[in-house]
Amino acid sequence: MSLFESPLFQDSFNQLELAGSIGGLDPNIVERLKYPKRALQVAVPIRLDDGTVKTFQGFRVQHNMTLGPGKGGIRFHPNVDLSETAALAMLMTFKCALVGLPLGGAKGGIQVDPGDLSRQELQSLTRRFATEISMLIGPNIDVPAPDIGTNGQTMAWFMDTYSQLKGYTVPGVVTGKPIAVGGSLGRAESTGKGVAYCVNFASTVTGIPIDTSTRVAIHGFGKVGIPAAEDLSAQGAKIVAIGDVSGAVFCGDGIDVKEAVRYVYAHGSVKGMPGTEAITNEELLSLEVEVLIPAAIDGIITEKNMKNVKAKIIAEGANGPITKEAIEYLAGNGAFIIPDILCNAGGVIVSYFEWVQGLQNFFWDLDQINKKLHDILKESFDRVVLCSNEFNVDMKKAAFIGALQRLDKAMRLRGLFPA
Ligand code: GLU
Repeated sequence: MSLFESPLFQDSFNQLELAGSIGGLDPNIVERLKYPKRALQVAVPIRLDDGTVKTFQGFRVQHNMTLGPGKGGIRFHPNVDLSETAALAMLMTFKCALVGLPLGGAKGGIQVDPGDLSRQELQSLTRRFATEISMLIGPNIDVPAPDIGTNGQTMAWFMDTYSQLKGYTVPGVVTGKPIAVGGSLGRAESTGKGVAYCVNFASTVTGIPIDTSTRVAIHGFGKVGIPAAEDLSAQGAKIVAIGDVSGAVFCGDGIDVKEAVRYVYAHGSVKGMPGTEAITNEELLSLEVEVLIPAAIDGIITEKNMKNVKAKIIAEGANGPITKEAIEYLAGNGAFIIPDILCNAGGVIVSYFEWVQGLQNFFWDLDQINKKLHDILKESFDRVVLCSNEFNVDMKKAAFIGALQRLDKAMRLRGLFPA
């Protein structure tokens, strides 16, 4: 498969080229950042509960490690392939650089629908995958984390497998672990919390208040969407619609987020939630709202539906949920878009805190973590706004320029090997 096959890789590649030229960055640096440093494709055979053997395709891509060890999640999803994983690894490089972490960009995944597998099968899948990519990862090399379809349990199995191979416990090999095995307070909700912080910063810039007059629609009511909904509704905002793979639900007076979370845990999806009206996800995206949070997967707002979107602030909770054309159109029409590499960076920021705490064997309290998370995001947000004003570009391009400036400096200082 060619690297260019996925729309997300093409979009990220084009955003990089554009940001490089608008930002006046060294073309040699931009050229080096177009391609992943290395990519590993592995076969992941497992024995299913019925005794048959099934083989899945797995990937780990390290895009760039100039700033430090590779960092990025592991995705279990049917759409995972080399090109999409490479694009997501590239986004991780820019994300870590933009928010000033001493980490590079990487991503991994397995082409699988985790919903089709039992807990035992998922454990076998994770352990075999961890073994297959073990030569490429490590606390000082490349540190995976959860992403779509994976969670703290996946990370615990992953860490245990790597530790078994080494003969001693290596907590720093992954982040997003449960607290009981070296995880960090605040990591589980960090991505969504970061999204809510960014929506607040955007409110200050745009003058659109976050209070009882604010209507919010959230596409993807999971690891990212739930904590974002909790934080925004605690500030008084009305969460009028939430959606997931089963469809979406709407309530003009505002959905009770606590009830919704209970319902989703009990029923597995938002479908049929009492007190709400069923709508489609396309209808959710088209709602008359102040804030729209696409927090599920990439390629949700495209040329096909961009003209229906009415939200004033759009917070990219997922990676790449809005295509390049749709960003140009929406930003051109006055929407304030908080780009993914800023908006959802809360996850990797607290992953960084977890990694540091693990290496020091010294753990911080939740207030400290949330304060540091807030401060890093605020500084990064302000930097993107400054770039946006300086280069007269939308926030997406500005974020890429901001990230590239940091990478450009570090890559030029380190030079090209061999000289
Ligand atoms: N998967 C998350 C992301 O896309 C978190 C990555 C990490 O914590 O390393 O940013």
